[in-house]
Amino acid sequence: HLRALNILGYHARLITSQATYDKNADINALVFTASETARKSVGTGPLREVSVAVKDNICTSDMPTSCSSPMLRNFHSPFDATVVQLLRSAGADIIGKANCDEFGMGSLNVYSVHGPVVNPHEPNERRSAGGSSGGSAAAVAAGMCDVSLGTDTGGSIRLPAAYCGVVGLKPSYGVISRWGVVSFADSLDCVGIMARSVKQVQRVFGTLGQYDYRDPSAATPETREKASQACSRSMQEWLSISQGGSLQGLRIGIPQEYFPAELSSSITESLRHVIDALQSRGAQVIPVSLPSTPYALSAYYVIASAEASSNMARYDGVEYGLRVDPPPGADTTKTANVYALTRSKGFGKEVQRRILLGAYALTADAFDNYFLQAQRVRKLIRADFNKIFHVANPLNSTHSPEPQSEVRGVHVLLHPSAIRTAPPLDDALIRDDGLEAYVQDVLTVPASLAGLPALNVPAGLAEDGWPVGVSVVAQWGCDEMAMEVGKIIQ
Ligand code: GLN
Repeated sequence: HLRALNILGYHARLITSQATYDKNADINALVFTASETARKSVGTGPLREVSVAVKDNICTSDMPTSCSSPMLRNFHSPFDATVVQLLRSAGADIIGKANCDEFGMGSLNVYSVHGPVVNPHEPNERRSAGGSSGGSAAAVAAGMCDVSLGTDTGGSIRLPAAYCGVVGLKPSYGVISRWGVVSFADSLDCVGIMARSVKQVQRVFGTLGQYDYRDPSAATPETREKASQACSRSMQEWLSISQGGSLQGLRIGIPQEYFPAELSSSITESLRHVIDALQSRGAQVIPVSLPSTPYALSAYYVIASAEASSNMARYDGVEYGLRVDPPPGADTTKTANVYALTRSKGFGKEVQRRILLGAYALTADAFDNYFLQAQRVRKLIRADFNKIFHVANPLNSTHSPEPQSEVRGVHVLLHPSAIRTAPPLDDALIRDDGLEAYVQDVLTVPASLAGLPALNVPAGLAEDGWPVGVSVVAQWGCDEMAMEVGKIIQ
């Protein structure tokens, strides 16, 4: 009987793979797929039978890791990233690598050597899946896998999750290991999880949210413990009651700065429905102010580009990836040297733009006005959040002041994840190479700058029939709290 079941299981998996490949032809979500041999070695554990796609900037030993860049097109990592090791040892089935914007830089998954990702919600309409983790979101939305991993530096999980109508968690900074993940901007980069339900995300978070001595930015076990205790205490105020249906005691903050002029009205409408539903169950909805929010986007692009320019310096044609040699007899003292030729050919235009922006912000002339100024803004943004949450920030060694807002601080914040629904792939926004694309991140970068957990939860469809997402943001280390509220909303 068991053998028969196994045989059926094996066939089921083969059939799944075929369906997966067929779907992929339309949406271009996966750029490499695992061989059947690698997949058959799937073990037992809490995630057995869970199929996972991994963003292509996370190292896997059995498939290439191209970061969607010509620079790393043929790069094979000799090792698995910690998150991949953890998934494998929990029994997950890693089916393939997901398309993304080059090195994670972008909001629409159009800057990829593998071509753009088509949003699976209605592939014929050819809309963007969002970025940079567009392939990860599309693969989950299309049912090609149960779960996917992405990375989020300034919104790259939440934005595609919102555009594709799936759940996406950007965890607290430092809670999931970045070892084996290709760096974009180290002080902001987080590995996160996407799935169709908050419950599934929570399950995978249980496996991945562990201390890793190999990641120098990993939160220590002591800090995790401190956060977990403070957050559980704070959740006691409402979680036990919520089992009975009432949300009495849950305080949700709506940040008034998160409704910029660019926000489309049908997005506000969807948020309104979520708020009404929460209020009708007894949750208290409180308007709050995060006054430094308007400066977050500029500060983010200065800091992220500065760190990116430094990280991209390792791709020099000597150590890793592509190498373009000058033609014989060329004057290598001029631009025809290996370094310049390799970088001109190996990096796409958006990555080149970030290198220039970042290198400029770090020059002696611009440093004070750009880089330092952006760091100051980052500090103000952190302070804004710390003032409104009920839980004190466990990373602050000094005693933080009592929350300033009404009724002892809010448990979570709720706001729209994106200013619009998925833009069509031939939209002016995508053709335009200017700042328009950067504005897509206006609602997601503040939590990134502050290192806070933020969860996109699908909130129905807008007037145009496309998915809308709302974000739940919590204090550092309160990822579980954000997910508990996410489960209530979903
Ligand atoms: N869109 C943002 C950027 O291009 C965020 C990217 C990300 O989170 N990886 O920088």
